[in-house]
Amino acid sequence: MSICIESESRFSSLGEAFYSKVRPEPLPDPYLVSLNTALAAKFGLHEHALAQQSLLEILSGNRLPEGAEPLAMLYAGHQFGHFVPQLGDGRALMLGDIRDENGKLWELQLKGAGITPYSRSGDGRAVLRSTIREYLCSEAMHGLGIPTTRALCITGSDEEVYREQIETAAVLVRMAPSHIRFGSFEVFYYRNQHDRLQQLADHLLAHHFAHLREGDRPYLAMFAEVVASTAQLIAQWQLVGFAHGVMNTDNMSMLGLTLDYGPYGFLDSYDPDYICNHSDHEGRYAFSKQPSIGQWNLTCLAQAMLPLFDAEPDTAVELAQDALNGYEPILVQAYADGMRAKLGLLEKRQEDHALVTDLLQKMQVNEVDYTRFFRALAEYMGEEGPVSCAAANEFVDREAFHAWAKDYTLRLAQENSQDEKRAMAMRRVNPKYVLRNYLAQTAIEKAMEKDFSEIDRLLQLLSLPFDEQPEHEHYAALPPDWSKRISVSCSS
Ligand code: AMP
Ligand code: MG
Repeated sequence: MSICIESESRFSSLGEAFYSKVRPEPLPDPYLVSLNTALAAKFGLHEHALAQQSLLEILSGNRLPEGAEPLAMLYAGHQFGHFVPQLGDGRALMLGDIRDENGKLWELQLKGAGITPYSRSGDGRAVLRSTIREYLCSEAMHGLGIPTTRALCITGSDEEVYREQIETAAVLVRMAPSHIRFGSFEVFYYRNQHDRLQQLADHLLAHHFAHLREGDRPYLAMFAEVVASTAQLIAQWQLVGFAHGVMNTDNMSMLGLTLDYGPYGFLDSYDPDYICNHSDHEGRYAFSKQPSIGQWNLTCLAQAMLPLFDAEPDTAVELAQDALNGYEPILVQAYADGMRAKLGLLEKRQEDHALVTDLLQKMQVNEVDYTRFFRALAEYMGEEGPVSCAAANEFVDREAFHAWAKDYTLRLAQENSQDEKRAMAMRRVNPKYVLRNYLAQTAIEKAMEKDFSEIDRLLQLLSLPFDEQPEHEHYAALPPDWSKRISVSCSS
């Protein structure tokens, strides 16, 4: 049993203007750090197969599977608002396409497998710390039902890698139906290579938006779908309290997936100004900025795709603008619907917006834990219920909670809400477990001592974030004080 790479990958058939052929750099004496057995099984890979040295060697980049034509993708991107004309996979390479049990094709990438023509001054390596962060978060997001690239396994090595301190190298195996980014279009627009733009768009239409191919203006329709999927994605981030940290256009997926996990973070206490990336001095990618940054990034994409929308520039701009105008209403609607579900409300009412705003404002002032509060609110039984309810306990100023809860109780009464049914529905949308920074950090610190068990435990826990899992209750506790001192930056 081994990895079966398709004879020619969909992306490689675009031709070498779109990528560079590369060879992975061997990872000395690789060992398995973690295997995502649930995902592996979808590709017919079982744990005993990984015990075979040959597969371990493939997944660490030491040996090429048959048929693999490894390549690093070319792209550009707006980084922190500034256009960089050439980026590309600097420490990732794609081995090829592999087919899952349903016949669907996935791109298989090795992240950290050495230098590519796009590595600039980087070493092409990933450190164990950053691979664990990406591995756990990809799967945590998947568990939460949020579109994301997936992570199959981590292999590690004792090879030293220099960052702020000496760390060790690791390779993450990442998968997605496509890793094409907004920046993949930008590179050709700014090089004035409009035929390449069209080739890239045709590739996406053929393999990922086939339902749009026969319609009117397929490129525009595809853009409109990217607008919608991005709006939906960011609404989901906001609802679950996820901050991406580096929403550059080269980290934005054309398929609306969460892509390129770096200095991300989940909210502990509710703070709209939360900046998870230590290097983001201006707070460009602060939690509450994500919705508007999504729009800004889509505007960059629209600009790059203009030549595809219409031969007449004014018409192209007008069409792009119309499609872009779809973003805000979709995001606002998805967020409002999601918040209603988080509060266990079934009906839509005008006053819901004020109810949410008031709650979030009070949560901010009281530094209320975002995940714990919503989870606890499922148990709320109305103001007639026990005064010391779990949700009120999350507030330092319990009066602030009760002031809000008066309105909430009325609102529940208006739709004859039934406590038990509501509680069940709320537990399906308000996770009990999220990947708090300190949880990832604990797994990282143990892994540095060659104890990988915490990675597997978290992977398991976060695959079912809505389940009570009483044996793991402590993972839902408030974060310890030391967690505030964890600093995460772009360097990984
Ligand atoms: P990111 O924002 O982390 O996705 O990375 C931005 C760009 O820097 C991408 O083009 C990466 O491929 C590249 N990069 C990041 N780290 C390294 C590294 N260690 N070696 C080479 N390139 C890197
Ligand atoms: Mg990136």
